[in-house]
Parts: sequence; C-alpha cells; structure tokens
Amino acid sequence: MRQPLVAGNWKMNGSRASIEVLLSGLKSGVQAVKVAEVAVCAPAVYLADVQSQLSGTAIAWGGQDLSTEASGAYTGEIAASMLNDFGCKYVIVGHSERRAYHGESDETVAKKYKAARAAGLVPILCVGETLEEREQGITEEVVARQLDAVIELEGVDALADGVVAYEPVWAIGTGKTATPEQAQDVHAFLRSRVAARSEAVAAGLRILYGGSMKPGNAAELLAKADIDGGLIGGASLSSDDFLGICTAANS
Ligand code: PEP
Repeated sequence: MRQPLVAGNWKMNGSRASIEVLLSGLKSGVQAVKVAEVAVCAPAVYLADVQSQLSGTAIAWGGQDLSTEASGAYTGEIAASMLNDFGCKYVIVGHSERRAYHGESDETVAKKYKAARAAGLVPILCVGETLEEREQGITEEVVARQLDAVIELEGVDALADGVVAYEPVWAIGTGKTATPEQAQDVHAFLRSRVAARSEAVAAGLRILYGGSMKPGNAAELLAKADIDGGLIGGASLSSDDFLGICTAANS
C-alpha cells in the first residue's frame, strides 16, 4: 500500500514574514490530514526558518533543486549535503521550469537524482510533456525518455528511493488540469515502464500528479489507482488550499 504524498512547491515565492504565516496555518491544520504524508519544498534561503518551524511536526520539508556536484567551485549552487544540514527529507529534481529556463537535460536531471540519493535525500523526479508534444501524440515517448535517463544512470532500484511526479507542462500554473483519465493513463504508463524492469519497485513507487491541482479537483485525481498524491505549486501558497488538497487524500 503506497502512502499518498502531497508536496508543496513554493517556487520563488514568499518572504520570511509570509512563510511564517503560511507555516503556522499548516501546523494548526495538519492534524486533520489522516492519510497523506505532507511536505513543503521551500526556497533554499528559507530552509533554516522552515526547519525551525517544522521540526517536531508531521510536516516534512525539502529543497527545489540541487547541484550535480558534491562541493567545490560552483558559484550559486547548492549541494545535497547543504540540504541535509537543514533537515531536508525531499528535493525536487528536473522541474519543467528548471528544464525550460536553465537548460537542464535529462542527463543533468539524472545526475541530480543520483546526487540527492547519494546524500540520503528523497528525490522527487518531475517528468511531463509540453502542449506541443501532447498534440503530436508523443507524451509517452517524452516521459519515458525522462524516466529512462535515471534508470540508465542508476538502475531501476534507484527508483525505490525516490518519488516521480507527472507534471504536464501545459497544466502547470495555467489553471488547466489534466483530466483524471488523462493523468491516470500517463501514471499507469510510467508504472508499467518501471514494472517491465522490476515489479516490486513499480508496486512501491509513488507517482504524484502536478498541474493546477486544487481542493476542488484533488479528490477525483487522487481517486485514480496510479495517482499517489500531488506536487502542488500555486495552491501550496495558501494553507487552506494546500490542506484542502491534503485532506482530499483522506477519502
Ligand atoms: C508545479 O510547479 O509543480 C505545479 C504543479 O504548479 P501548479 O500547481 O501551480 O500548476
């Protein structure tokens, strides 16, 4: 049985003051979340604040990106060990915004996955097609290539230590959500691709959906057999909305 995970991706939003308000809202409402594991992925400069406010609570936290390298002359980069220093459990790798705006290739993302895992962090590997790719009918080809990059570098067992998030690029921050059927089809495809190499890894792998998930559409997405939670952008900036999604996993 896979425990659902609902993870917030705050992206480059917030301030010390707004994050304090958001976290106190989450802390006071999280008791109503009976089933899902809850996590927030914060901008790196706020991780110390997040750690001090969330330590001892039921909410885990993580980073939004990390370096492929362990340490050294990489100005501006953040090493896995630094995320560890601030108590992170998770780190997002290969978010479509990193792929699009920072030119991250599948190979780079796979190296980030490896670096996270080597440090004991749980990588959340994002995969997903653009609207153009969906219209060309190559969604499966795209997500397979993104997934396979990790399997080729590290072997299928590496997925036992991570989480996959299917995030159709056309649904991120656009208000357009994949229908539960569209999402389920891709989730089932991803799981079957892993199962072809290891049934056990596939059975345990949590595959999250991300893309304009909100309290109003979460329950029907989360009801699908292969949707094991959500990676939440915009709606994670409101404690009420985020907790609404987390509690949707209760039913
Ligand atoms: C995301 O960026 O991971 C995401 C899913 O964003 P949103 O929920 O805003 O579409």
